[in-house]
Amino acid sequence: MKFISYWHDTSKAFAGATREPLSDDFEVAVIGAGFTGLNAARKLAKSGVKVALIEAEHVGYGASGRNGGHLNSGHFASFGAAKAHFGEAKARRFWRSYDDSIDMIEAIIAEEGIDCSFRRGGKLKLASKPSHVKGLQAMCEELRREVDPSVEWLSRGDVRKELGSEAFHGAVLSPKSAMMHMGQYANGMADAAARHGATIWEHNPVQSCIRVSDGWRITSPTGSLAARRVILATDAYTTENFDYYRRRMMPIASFIVVTRPLTPEEVAATLPGNRNYTNSLNIANYFRLTPDNRLLFGGRAKFSAASNQKTDVRSGELLRKQMLDVFPQLADVEIDYCWGGLVGCTQDRYPRAGAADGLIYGMGYSGHGAQLSTLIGSVLADIAMGRTDTNPIGGMDWNAVPLHTGKPWFLPMVGTYYRLKDMLP
Ligand SMILES: Cc1cc2nc3c(=O)[nH]c(=O)nc-3n(C[C@H](O)[C@H](O)[C@H](O)COP(=O)(O)OP(=O)(O)OC[C@H]3O[C@@H](n4cnc5c(N)ncnc54)[C@H](O)[C@@H]3O)c2cc1C
Repeated sequence: MKFISYWHDTSKAFAGATREPLSDDFEVAVIGAGFTGLNAARKLAKSGVKVALIEAEHVGYGASGRNGGHLNSGHFASFGAAKAHFGEAKARRFWRSYDDSIDMIEAIIAEEGIDCSFRRGGKLKLASKPSHVKGLQAMCEELRREVDPSVEWLSRGDVRKELGSEAFHGAVLSPKSAMMHMGQYANGMADAAARHGATIWEHNPVQSCIRVSDGWRITSPTGSLAARRVILATDAYTTENFDYYRRRMMPIASFIVVTRPLTPEEVAATLPGNRNYTNSLNIANYFRLTPDNRLLFGGRAKFSAASNQKTDVRSGELLRKQMLDVFPQLADVEIDYCWGGLVGCTQDRYPRAGAADGLIYGMGYSGHGAQLSTLIGSVLADIAMGRTDTNPIGGMDWNAVPLHTGKPWFLPMVGTYYRLKDMLP
């Protein structure tokens, strides 16, 4: 078994980073080369702006190269909750921004010629318990009525035709959701940004970002550069030197296992519907097939604030057990990959984007940013170029999480609370 991301392992790494020390003067510097930073840099470069993209590790190193590969429609909270939070007009705009992001990804892939197996397969949110059916049916009705008439309710019998599993009692189908190879998309976006003229540094962790008279001076171990504007696109991987943001987001680990490629017979017996799937537990699981027909199965597992060799191995064992609870027919199928990554959660689980503390930022996707990060990257590029009306989540208050200093010490208690809730019928 490999303890690395399947997406990293099966995509051609970006080869266009500069080997020079950090140097020169830029109009905009983008920190973090996940989907947010990559699309911000790509759009700025394409618009003729002199832009630097600076990544601590390698392109797609963070959540963008480690996620479950679901590009799902809408936010995971109910539309009613979003309406109560934002007010009706803004809630609609917020909700639709997830679909707009998927459309934007599809358009960029076509425009830049990125080969990443993009597919509109749809998503099922599965009822894990009979007691969850009523709530999910109400959610489905509300979505159909308020924002997305294409959403449908599937009965237990319908679900059984989609999935070779007795574990579920019905599901909400969102047909517009999509999937792709996340590593190929990340590396393809970096190729596109470089082709349009962005200068990309890998292996250059930003150690300081200091305001100077006409902008900012950014320093890494190799050197320093000047930039008029700075975009922070570091989400859950935000480092201590950006404390303002760390106090507003909690990094929570999520883990994934991937099997060996399934045979056509095994696919037919497990996921013949070939969509994105999530279940309705508080500590939920998500799964899908990879382009080469492996089962990718993920979840919060141990509910930890860290992803390292120890937490990944323990969580991988738990995930395999959870996978077999859903698909006992895969008992003899080997696990080829196991890894973890960090999700940047805000206290209210809504993302944030705008300008604060002198920087332009977009983050806090709360585990649901594989699609939205591309759109927010575009929004941040617009803000850097002086345009603010494209931001679907602008102007939201964002207070520090009480008693949170950057390391979420309270996570084990939260995990126990949700685990107990999941034990109830
Ligand atoms: C295991 C897992 C499963 C997930 N599954 C899904 C899913 O199926 N669907 C979905 O919608 N969302 C999912 N997500 C969430 C989604 O992947 C993220 O919301 C999204 O990728 C965030 O993109 P980003 O570009 O903002 O941040 P990231 O991709 O995390 O990129 C941030 C980058 O900033 C760099 N960085 C940090 N500090 C510095 C510094 N000081 N200097 C230079 N660089 C720095 C990091 O190295 C990192 O590469 C999942 C996340 C995880 C971890």
